[in-house]
Formats: sequence, structure tokens, C-alpha cells
Amino acid sequence: MSSPTASAPSATSGRLADEAARRRTFAVISHPDAGKSTLTEALALHAKVISEAGAIHGKAGRKSTVSDWMEMEKARGISVSSTALQFEYGDCVINLVDTPGHSDFSEDTYRVLTAVDAAVMLIDAAKGLEPQTLKLFQVARDRGIPVITVINKWDRPGQAPLELLDEIVDRIGLTPTPLFLPVGIAGDFRGLLRRGEEGAATEYIHFTRTAGGATIAPEEHYTPEQAAEREGDAWTNAAEESELLSAAGQDHDQELFLAGHTSPVIYASAMLNFGVRQILETLVELAPPPRSRKDVNGNERETTAPFSAVIFKVQAGMDTAHRDRLAFMRIVSGEFERGMVVTHAQTGRPFATKYALTVFGRERTTVDTAYPGDVVGLVNATALAPGHTLFVDKKVEFPPIPSFAPEHFATLRAKTADKYKQFRKAMDQLDSEGVVQVLRNDARGDASPVLAAVGPMQFEVVTARMQSEFNVETQLDFLPFQLARRTDAESAEELSRQRGVEVFTRTDGAILALFSDKWRLQYIVKEMPKLTLELLVAGT
Ligand code: GDP
Repeated sequence: MSSPTASAPSATSGRLADEAARRRTFAVISHPDAGKSTLTEALALHAKVISEAGAIHGKAGRKSTVSDWMEMEKARGISVSSTALQFEYGDCVINLVDTPGHSDFSEDTYRVLTAVDAAVMLIDAAKGLEPQTLKLFQVARDRGIPVITVINKWDRPGQAPLELLDEIVDRIGLTPTPLFLPVGIAGDFRGLLRRGEEGAATEYIHFTRTAGGATIAPEEHYTPEQAAEREGDAWTNAAEESELLSAAGQDHDQELFLAGHTSPVIYASAMLNFGVRQILETLVELAPPPRSRKDVNGNERETTAPFSAVIFKVQAGMDTAHRDRLAFMRIVSGEFERGMVVTHAQTGRPFATKYALTVFGRERTTVDTAYPGDVVGLVNATALAPGHTLFVDKKVEFPPIPSFAPEHFATLRAKTADKYKQFRKAMDQLDSEGVVQVLRNDARGDASPVLAAVGPMQFEVVTARMQSEFNVETQLDFLPFQLARRTDAESAEELSRQRGVEVFTRTDGAILALFSDKWRLQYIVKEMPKLTLELLVAGT
């Protein structure tokens, strides 16, 4: 394998720039059941990665499931793992990074959103905006990620098209700018009207259903005149809606979209494969390619700089047949070649990338080369944790990924003393993966650390994996704390003396004070205003 060059010659740099420019890396954010798995399959179907919808997730009684890697996922019907699907579409390389389906794992989703350049916000046409959509949208906004909105399930009865858009304006303050409007009311989805300059319809795309939506829906293209003749009122209504939107200033504007003020909208049915090609087209044409990223010193790392990457996800036990631990990196700059030796910024140690994979569901494919925007899984990368940086050449380090504010707390211990050593080892591993946050203090000791989670299901993952991977039976006891604040060593002493408060050190060194309830916290803030009590990211 060739070793990384210190400064890329310009021909390489040109090629790198071209490779980066043709990449689109995005995640789908949605409330459970909005159709994320179905849409993922539909996109893969259009990109010809799979020949029949149902091959990946096996929802809706189609073929066997591939992404349900853990018993718990099967039992709950949720997806805990995040993986990436890469496919070529036209001249573009598209990376779809999967996010966990349940809100208890929103910290994982947050990490995924640090690794993408755009998000598709998927909304169920009948249900409109749901709590998880709103929460995830907020995260996308905080990260400055442009959002494309897909209104799904238009084949089912639901709200009026413009009503849904009003909800987006009112509840999230984002201006929706439809690129396509549905022809036919919800439940009678015939096709899409393509909006041009000032809302003028430029064409009608008519879709034909296929059996069970298992294959691509054939498209026929008509002029607006032909469409009016063919579809009558359904077309006239869509054309009128398009004009109304223009009058309200809801036309696509690339700059406003990239700045996060507006969101292009597409109406679709992931199940019938209606509008799916239009989603891909929009990603290719409008979603931003990988851009430079700020390092800890505030310098921009250009995509054409020597190789660098950020770890955003660590996952062990994905496949019981391979007892391995995968660290997923998002490439920020340069070319990745399997086998190259990179440096782990946090330890300064070299890391050999002999085993590099893309992972989607149970599919694993070896990666030989990858470029900015790509997601690569590194096998048995024990030292790597979410937020870490890998680089070649001169040292670069990207800012850590902020932790969420935990809201659930419990102690965990091995049920029998003879398993203590194994328990500690397992705890360290789960901690470094970021499965839960681990808190310790002298009073409690190491035998029963406190686990802090955003959602209680994270505890289930810990106890299930303790049992299945490490053969340790554990006892989990919930603690009566509801809130956490970051504090410092100086304030910690005073806080420890308060009733309903306990102070801990998290593995990353942060000192956290836990409070029994918000009244206790408010009281302390009022009575002792000099104490340091900072809000953690994205919490209450
Ligand atoms: P996820 O939880 O967001 O991954 O949602 P799924 O993809 O599992 O979909 C949830 C349910 O909605 C399943 O029963 C799907 O078959 C169904 N579904 C998904 N997309 C559509 C659609 O476009 N139309 C209809 N009618 N049902 C859909």
C-alpha cells in the first residue's frame, strides 16, 4: 500500500476536489413509522443497489430482515445501529447514513448528524409533524445542516398539501418551498407537478403503480396542457396551489436553502416508489457536497488537504458471528486507501487501516479507496471513540461531539462478585462506544458506577450486551435523579453538601451534578448564585 504523501500534487488535488464535489452525504430524520426504512429501500431500488424493495429491511412482510442485528431490535422492531448505504446515482456517489429509529437513542442520531452534509426530513402526510421530527429538526438546525422535506404516504388519505406546509412554517419556522406538488389529493396520488420559475408548472410526471410497490414505478412525462386534459381538476388544483405558493414567496432559493432558512419539498409515496427518483434528483442537484470543516483551532480543513476523518459512531456486537468492534469514520479530507497508516489524534498512536468496510444491515463490503463525505467502518479499532480524529501528515484535530444532557440515571453492578473483572472490562468498552455515559465518584466506587442516559432503552442495551457479549448478569437500580448540570471542582464541594444533589465525574473528565428534580435545582440556583451550573447540550 502506498503511504500518504506530505503535500498532494495538483493533479491529485484536482481529482480529490472532483471526487468530493460528486458526493452527497445525508441522513433521514423522521419520527418512527414515517417510512424511513421504506424510503431507504426505495432509494436503493432506484440506484439499482437492490433489485426488489424489501431486500434490506424486509418491512411489510416482504423478504427477510437484514438490519435487525440484535435480539432487542427484533423484539422492539426498532433499529439501534447506524450504518451507511453507498450507491452511485448518475455521476454522483450518494452516502445515506442510517439513524436509529427510537428517540431514546437521540444521542446516536446527533452523532450521525455531525457526519452528514444534508438531512431529509421525512413526514407522514396524515400525521404531520411529530415530536421526534421536531426534535431532530432542531438538531439539524443547530448543526447548520440544510434540510430537504419529503412528505410521505401521499397514497393514503391525509391533510391538504398546503396545510402541511403551514404547519412547517408555524411550528419550526422554516419556509417550505415545494419543487413538486402532488396531482391528486392524499389517497389519490396520480403524479407530480414540477414547479418552475415563479411557480409555473413545467411538466407533469405521472406514475403507474407496480405490484406491491416492489419495483420502480414507471413514469410518463406530459406538458402542462396535456396534463390539464388528462387529469382535469386534479391538475388545475395543483397548478393553482403552485401559483399561491409563489405569491407567498415560497419558491426555491439555493442560497436560502443552504443557509437553513428554506426547505425544498417533495411529495412522495415511498411504498409505491412515487417521487423517489425526484428525491434523488434533488439530492444530486441541490444538496451540498462535502465542505471544509473547522478544526479545534478554528482553521478550516479543506477537502483537498491530506487525509483526515472524524469517528462518529462505534459499534460492537453488530454481528455475533464476528465478535468485532467497528468504528465508523466520516472522511473530512484527502483520499483514504485501505492499509494506510494514520494517526489517532487523541493518543498520537499510529493506526493501521488494514480492515476497512462499508456496512449496511448485514452486508459488509471491503473498501479500498474512499473520499471526503464517505463513511468507512474500521474493524477492531479499540482505541477509537465518537468524536475522535484520524489524520495523516501534520496533526489536525476536530472538535469533540458534545454529549446530550442525560435524564435517566441508574447504578449497575455485576450480580455475582466473581464477575467483577469482566464487568469492569465490559463497562469500559460500552463507555468508550458511547452506549451510555458513565459517572463515578469516590463514595460509590467502581463496582457500581452510575449510568446516565438520554432514554431508558439505552440501559436495556447495556444489560443485554453485558449478558450476551460478556456473560455478566447485572443488576440495574434506578436513581431518583432527573436532571444534570455541568459544574467545576470549586462548586462541586458545596453542591455535594446539598440535599437531593450528588456530584460525579464523567469519563471525559466533565464534572456533573445530578439533581432530584427541577425545584431542587431552581432552589440552589437562587440561593447560591455563585455556583457554576451549566446546561448540557440539547437537554432540559
Ligand atoms: P420507519 O419506522 O420510519 O422506518 O417506517 P417504515 O419504513 O417501517 O414504515 C412504517 C409503516 O408505514 C410500514 O407499515 C410501511 O409499510 C408503511 N409505509 C411506509 N411508507 C409508506 C407509504 O409511502 N405509503 C403507505 N401507505 N405506507 C407506507
